[in-house]
Amino acid sequence: MTTYDLAIVGGGILGLATAREFVLRHPGARVVLLEKEDRLALHQTGRNSGVIHSGIYYAPGSAKARFCVAGARAMIEYCEERAITYERPGKLIVAIEEDELGRLDELQRRAAENGVGGVSRLDPAAIHDAEPNVRGIAALHVPGTAIVDFRIVAEALGSDLQAAGAEIRVGTWVEGIRALPAHVLVTTKSETLVCGQVIACAGIGSDRIARQIGGSDAIRIVPFRGDYYRLAPERAGLVRRLIYPVPDPRFPFLGVHFTPRIGGEVWLGPNAVLAFGAEAYRRRDVDLAETAGFIRYAGFRKMALRYWRTGVAEVLRDYSKRLFLAALRRYVPRLESSDLLPGPSGIRAQAIAADGTMVDDFWFETLPRVLVVRNAPSPAATASLALAREIVDRALAAAPR
Ligand SMILES: Cc1cc2nc3c(=O)[nH]c(=O)nc-3n(C[C@H](O)[C@H](O)[C@H](O)COP(=O)(O)OP(=O)(O)OC[C@H]3O[C@@H](n4cnc5c(N)ncnc54)[C@H](O)[C@@H]3O)c2cc1C
Repeated sequence: MTTYDLAIVGGGILGLATAREFVLRHPGARVVLLEKEDRLALHQTGRNSGVIHSGIYYAPGSAKARFCVAGARAMIEYCEERAITYERPGKLIVAIEEDELGRLDELQRRAAENGVGGVSRLDPAAIHDAEPNVRGIAALHVPGTAIVDFRIVAEALGSDLQAAGAEIRVGTWVEGIRALPAHVLVTTKSETLVCGQVIACAGIGSDRIARQIGGSDAIRIVPFRGDYYRLAPERAGLVRRLIYPVPDPRFPFLGVHFTPRIGGEVWLGPNAVLAFGAEAYRRRDVDLAETAGFIRYAGFRKMALRYWRTGVAEVLRDYSKRLFLAALRRYVPRLESSDLLPGPSGIRAQAIAADGTMVDDFWFETLPRVLVVRNAPSPAATASLALAREIVDRALAAAPR
């Protein structure tokens, strides 16, 4: 049996940032990070839009608002410190229907309350000047929105961690966690680790861990796949900035958007369709046991009943390139079907509450000696460095003395 002060489960950006925060505060502590895959950041962290969000969307006072704004600042500083390439193309949130104008007003108000600077309102002529291929009746210009490759950030955090003396074990699936009065036993295929504390940042795997230690069943993670198209390289000049729709306030997803990437590509998407398994990245992937698991969950069935129309529309658009293109052409009418090349997919770990609502904010669960991050959807990559501070504060406050 090996002894550690802290074990972190999950080698995504949140687990890495949290482990790093802990070793920076406690030099010399024995810390191990356990990741089931053979490499770091293979799931949400390595399969996202790569946007350092400014914090404009989130309800003032919410954890998302606070940690996104602070996290974006910390992320930019970290990229500068570690010479990681990032760019700040800025973003337009574009209204195309009259009934979106009220929501655009609300976003502008949220930007001001959340301390997101430099946001301005554009009329159609100003939209045309800024983005000649984009059509809209009004837009918000958010100059601070930046892009980065979060996989590279994750790798840099990993090397900081190792330089500070922590251990990273990839290819190590945590099968069991048992909290005892004096320590926590963490079981992997080959051994049992004895740890003072455990922090689980396991993304879509967080429910399993929470269940093992008697966590709350008030929420449950449901996987939502997001598929992207890539814009044909010769058409990458169609947009200069990130172009987003006005989001539907009923859902935590931001709607399909145009995202310039580090390296010059432009990605289109992601949509949001139910995935039939935690790692069901292709449309044909189905994990029957996992799917049956969330269908049995009353919260999922309530959500499905409430939003089935939106769900069906999303699925149709997922299978039909023509419908996906139509959604994008509402913003960029010059887009052609031949401009859309196949792209990657990611799966969001989205918590659903027992009453069928999608849990919008970050959610942590603290049990004796174990903290589980139960809901860390977008913008958790942006917010990761600020969230790491919060997670370590909470874990230390809950640590038995
Ligand atoms: C399509 C998409 C687009 C997004 N766009 C953005 C964006 O532009 N900006 C932004 O800020 N956020 C975005 N997000 C959200 C962001 O990617 C996530 O919030 C963030 O990456 C969460 O990080 P994490 O470390 O919690 O999860 P993950 O990156 O999923 O990491 C969890 C890790 O835990 C490991 N694990 C799970 N169970 C176990 C176990 N039992 N034992 C060992 N290891 C285990 C997994 O293998 C995985 O590596 C997006 C997400 C998606 C899916």
